[in-house]
Amino acid sequence: MGPKGDNVVVSNMKLERMLSMKGGKGEASYANNSQAQALHARSMLHLLEETLDGVQLNSPEVPFVVVDLGCSCGSNTIYIVDVMIKHMIKRYEALGYEPPEFSAFFSDLPSNDFNTLFQLLPQLANYGGSMEECLAANKHRSYFAAGVPGSFYRRLFPARSIDVFHSAFSLHWLSQVPEIVLDKRSTAYNKGRVFIHGASESTANAYKKRFQTDLAGFLRSRSQEMKRGGSMFLVCLGRTSVDPADQGGAGLLFGTHFQDAWDDLVQEGLINSEKRDNFNIPVYAPSLQDFKEVVEADGSFAINKLEVFKGGSPLVVNQPDDAAEVGRALANSCRSVSGVLVDAHIGDRLSEELFLRVEHRATSHAKELLEQLQFFHIVASLSFA
Ligand code: SAH
Repeated sequence: MGPKGDNVVVSNMKLERMLSMKGGKGEASYANNSQAQALHARSMLHLLEETLDGVQLNSPEVPFVVVDLGCSCGSNTIYIVDVMIKHMIKRYEALGYEPPEFSAFFSDLPSNDFNTLFQLLPQLANYGGSMEECLAANKHRSYFAAGVPGSFYRRLFPARSIDVFHSAFSLHWLSQVPEIVLDKRSTAYNKGRVFIHGASESTANAYKKRFQTDLAGFLRSRSQEMKRGGSMFLVCLGRTSVDPADQGGAGLLFGTHFQDAWDDLVQEGLINSEKRDNFNIPVYAPSLQDFKEVVEADGSFAINKLEVFKGGSPLVVNQPDDAAEVGRALANSCRSVSGVLVDAHIGDRLSEELFLRVEHRATSHAKELLEQLQFFHIVASLSFA
């Protein structure tokens, strides 16, 4: 039996029913706080293109289908889908073939802000239109678009229907916080903490197990959905340490100022300690080994590339010397990804208080943050033979 009472909103309500990045276009929205992800994705475009070069081409009568899993609501997903389709068109043209029609599926959990995403989509190019329309097509999208709600840890598409799967900065989100981490009687109870950075071995191992079980479900589902000859390009947060309780950049993001801000709320009597202890960030940055074990055990995919890459800082600031800007950037970046969960756990008013404290604390450690906050990513290029 799990813990009882009103302290466990997040654990009782299925995470996949509520998790999303902050929607809309406000200051702490994901759309406004994902420039770092955009930069990191751009630095890996050559790897994505290498993956696309390995995809088997269909005959032109069959639509070519690409999917972005964990697309969220900003412009990053639209940019990447555009890159992928333009690259495939070039490949067809280089061989003197007429490119097929393209279909792109934007997939995320049901509470994702698909409205904001759909509003950002460029207009569909007018197929078979006039010359002027063709010339203007560069500003248009050359693919049919659809949104697909659901968890990527399960089936989302019909069998053998997808040519390319892409997923960036999403697979480190667990399907749920492991129940034993929230169970007071368990040795894995994450007392005093809101993340596994610096947590006990049994807590960190519970997270690791959840991650590996989730990834196994992801690969099993994709191996059914992918066409033979298809490929997959995956990027998620990773770590360089073998110790799962050392979460690297993710650990600094959720295990220092964010953690201290929760402790502030407890010390100020705004929440009790149990309320804090029942909140856990469902993120796990795997080591290369953690990831590889699952891909190998699944066995459906050939590994073209599986490496850890240095991504860089999640903080994009105009004036690095301006401590207040750095503090705000950290608080907004933290809030854009975890704000929805925090709001659900302690309500909007206390959530506001929490992120104010994150901002103050980060402002007074701005220099260190800029120097030390670095993300590493696991990059996987996999083919389905
Ligand atoms: N790919 C985008 C967004 C990354 S944010 C970019 O590069 O900027 C991470 C996204 O993963 C969020 O939108 C979150 O809702 C989604 N996500 C997390 N767990 C998921 C799951 N189980 N199934 C589908 N999407 C998930």
